[in-house]
Amino acid sequence: MANPSAPQIDEMTESVTLMEVSPRDGLQNEETLLDTEAKLELIERALQAGCRRIEATSFVHPKKVPQMADAEAVCAGLPQRGDVIYTGLVLNWRGYERARATERLQEVGIVIPASDTFGVRNQGMTVAEGVDEAVRILRHARTVGMRAQVTVSVAFGCPFEGEVAFDGVVEVCRRLADEAPVEIALADTIGVGVPGQVLDAFGELREALGEMPLRAHFHDTRNTGIANAFAALQVGVETLDASIGGIGGCPFAPNATGNIATEDLVYMLNRMNVEHGVDLDSLLEASNWLEGALGKPVPSMLSRAGGFPNA
Ligand code: MG
Repeated sequence: MANPSAPQIDEMTESVTLMEVSPRDGLQNEETLLDTEAKLELIERALQAGCRRIEATSFVHPKKVPQMADAEAVCAGLPQRGDVIYTGLVLNWRGYERARATERLQEVGIVIPASDTFGVRNQGMTVAEGVDEAVRILRHARTVGMRAQVTVSVAFGCPFEGEVAFDGVVEVCRRLADEAPVEIALADTIGVGVPGQVLDAFGELREALGEMPLRAHFHDTRNTGIANAFAALQVGVETLDASIGGIGGCPFAPNATGNIATEDLVYMLNRMNVEHGVDLDSLLEASNWLEGALGKPVPSMLSRAGGFPNA
C-alpha cells in the first residue's frame, strides 16, 4: 500500500488524547480477578493522573469474560464529573442496552471484527453482521443523544485468517462513517502491525473519511506497539489507547499480550513535546499499585526503568 500523502515527521501532531483502557482491555485477560473496589481504585488513579477518557468496562457475557461480570457495579461506582468521558465497550445490541441502562456512561464503544473467523469466535458474528449491528446501535444512540464510536478489531492481521485485506477494512469504515459515529478506531488486537502498515492504513482511512476523528489501539505483542503509536501520530490520529502497566489482551486471541503501556507512551510523548495532559509520576505510582493488586510484575518498561532525567 503506497501512501504518498503521509506527512513527514515535522508535521506530526502537537497534541493527542489518551484513552485509558486498563480497566477493560487491561484486566480482561488477567488470571487474577480484581474485585469491583480495586477496579474503581484503578479508575480513580487514572483520573488522578489526568486521564479524561477511560474505557471503564465491557458488557459481554459473564461466562465468556468473567473478569467483566461486575460491569454494572463498576459503572455504579464511577465518580461522575463533567470533564470525563467513561466508555462502555459493547459487542452487540444486548451489550448496548446494558451499557445505557447504567446511566453512568458518557459513551459506548462498539467493536466489530475485520475478519469473519475472528468475528465468529470473538462475538458470534461475521464482518457483515457486525456492521449491521453497529449501524443499528449508532442510529439508536444518535436518537437518544449518546456518544457512540466504533473500533474495527484485528484490522492489522487476524490470528486465524492471517493477513487482512485492508480494502475491506476501508469499505467497512466508510459504511460506519455514514452513520456519523464520534470516532472510528483501528485495533491491532493481536499486536502484529508494523509502523509502515500503520502509516498506510491510517493514511488511507484519512483520505477515505476526511475529517472523521480517528483512534488507534495497539498491543505490544511483537515489540512494535510504541513504534506503531509514533507512526499513528505522524498521520494525525487524534486518540491513542493505552493501558497502565501495559496489561491486557484479548481472551479469544491465542498468545495475546498487553496494550502499549500508558507510562511508556507518556514518556515518549513528554520527550517529544506532544501534549496529552497526563502525569507520568502518577502513572508510575498507579502501575506500581497495580503490580501489588495483581500480585505480579506488569510488562511496562517504565515501571522498571523509570523516567529520565530524574524520576
Ligand atoms: Mg485490545
